[in-house]
Amino acid sequence: MEHAGRHALVTGGGTGIGLDIARALAAAGAEVTITGRNLDRLQTIAAGTPRLHPLAMDVGDEVSVRDGIAHAATLRGPIAICIANAGIAEGASFHRETLDHWRAIMTTNLDGVFLTFQAALATLGREDWGRMIAISSIAGLRGLKGASAYTASKHGVLGLIRALSEERMGGPVTFNALCPGYVDTPIVSRNAAEIATRQGIPEAEARAHLARGNRHKILLQTEEVTGAALWLCSEAARSVNGQAIQIAGGQVT
Ligand code: NDP
Repeated sequence: MEHAGRHALVTGGGTGIGLDIARALAAAGAEVTITGRNLDRLQTIAAGTPRLHPLAMDVGDEVSVRDGIAHAATLRGPIAICIANAGIAEGASFHRETLDHWRAIMTTNLDGVFLTFQAALATLGREDWGRMIAISSIAGLRGLKGASAYTASKHGVLGLIRALSEERMGGPVTFNALCPGYVDTPIVSRNAAEIATRQGIPEAEARAHLARGNRHKILLQTEEVTGAALWLCSEAARSVNGQAIQIAGGQVT
């Protein structure tokens, strides 16, 4: 029960990577606030797992984030562990990109991390222990064809955690990011379904296409990202700060 008594918050904690991390933190004893826009889904999940607490919160909406996190902290204490995971992945080739679509991606993927971290840090005293982790992507480290907005947003997340780690270096809070390759979650299922429709191929073939850059030719499982997140939350990782950790099977494309 390494995290017993700690309050953790996971944005996008009702599905995929966020849900897996939230469950693991709850199993390690933390009281975990899981957030998202779909409150019904969060409530159903929380009803079946001890120490998960649902909270409706839109990460792109300043008032929703500030009020939501302040309310959660009133109920369960300062946010010692914050996993900024909520994100959307919708590609568009650059010449078809619109400012509205670009802004929608930035609002959720980049503004969302900024707002979440700022509100979570406001609940902590200067000497309080903390772990702030953002879920970036392999697209935070290199260009992803046909997804300029997503790529730029995920690069931005890395800039933010690096700046924050410098600003607070030597303090008890660390700031890091995880950069997964393709993970088998609802985002990837939607992505594979789109490719299958567009190219007239079976969905299994589209999934294999997504896995081709991973040198093991597999889609990652959420547990692989969760393992890294739990390590970053551990005492063993107290000196790891401002890092972007790639979990991508040596992905090359
Ligand atoms: P999911 O689609 O399962 O998760 C995305 C989550 O984000 C959902 O729970 C969704 O909840 C939440 N979300 C989206 N928009 C908002 C918003 N405006 N406000 C609050 N919550 C929001 O996919 P993944 O688990 O795969 O994705 C999680 C993160 O991992 C994302 O940041 C993604 O970019 C990143 N990632 C994923 C990879 C993959 O291959 N799967 C690879 C690399 C990075 P709700 O709909 O209830 O709002």
